[in-house]
Amino acid sequence: MIIVLKPGASKEDVDRLLERIHGLGYRTHLSRGEQRTIVGIIGDEDKARSEPFEAFPGVERVLPILTPYKLASREAHAGDTVVVAGPARFGGGEVSIIGGPCAVEGREMLFRIAGPVKEAGAVVLRGGAFKPRTSPYTFQGLGEEGLRYLRECGDALGLPVVTEVMDTRQVGLVERYADLLQIGARNMQNFPLLSEVGESRKPVILKRGLSATVKEFLQSAEYILARGNPNVILCERGVRSFEDSVRNLFDVSAIPNLKKASHLPVIADPSHATGRADLVVPVARAAIAAGADGLLVDVHDDPAKALVDGPQALLPAAFAALCEDARRIAEVLGRTVVGPVGSVGPVGARV
Ligand code: PEP
Ligand code: MN
Repeated sequence: MIIVLKPGASKEDVDRLLERIHGLGYRTHLSRGEQRTIVGIIGDEDKARSEPFEAFPGVERVLPILTPYKLASREAHAGDTVVVAGPARFGGGEVSIIGGPCAVEGREMLFRIAGPVKEAGAVVLRGGAFKPRTSPYTFQGLGEEGLRYLRECGDALGLPVVTEVMDTRQVGLVERYADLLQIGARNMQNFPLLSEVGESRKPVILKRGLSATVKEFLQSAEYILARGNPNVILCERGVRSFEDSVRNLFDVSAIPNLKKASHLPVIADPSHATGRADLVVPVARAAIAAGADGLLVDVHDDPAKALVDGPQALLPAAFAALCEDARRIAEVLGRTVVGPVGSVGPVGARV
């Protein structure tokens, strides 16, 4: 960590700062330039980061040298982490597609949609049982009943299943039914929940918060990794903006940006990113072209009757065409879309 002092910092300011740093057990390297004095702190930067050095008189700026997400960063881990869930592999040049309804509305609809979703090329089935709805008066999901249908359907088709967990109290329950856990955008900074899923060894799809920076996103991933769960998949799903013709603003640059900073796989959710079925396919294509390791796509066979997010759902045929596009785009870039599906195998990370 480097501390830059103000041009007018007095000798007393520098001495007081050095005394504090040495008192905390760090060594220092002092550089007195013509205009500025710069103090280099030698020692555990993670610990030093929590000291309020900016509050000292004479200090202009404190510059950390290391990233605040050491386990998630490429500095700690040069190769790509590949997260495996049954037939799905995310990362290391392999692309996996997740599809299914936004919410599990019932057993029959799930089976009706999941069959074509698998046939199209999805290697993971999605479906929300606990839905984070803006209004408390709208459909909140079927809860455990929905988890049961999801498990049953996944087993019948040989597909691993992913569903959202919204609360620390639900983690045990959701973990019993799901192969992958999803942390929704609204919970990206629910730190107790991140720590709780960090205790699990099931893969976690962590969605980017509504107004989270890339750095904050990676710090949230760090919470999960720090508890010992290496199976984290980052999901870009758009951020809030002034533009109101789309639900969120899809940040395509976040994909290469995250992949440069981190070894974790990055997938994209073009459905929640746009909120519009007519934009899902082009945005998904762009995500694959930008290097995404997978897609998470809402599919419904009767979007007009969907209980949640109908306007953004693709019909199964459109989803199949998208899977084919993804395969062709990935191939041009020397990457492979995983599929067709085998049986549900082990779940975990190859790191
Ligand atoms: C979802 O995938 O069902 C969902 C609610 O997405 P997000 O958390 O990104 O809004
Ligand atoms: Mn949704």
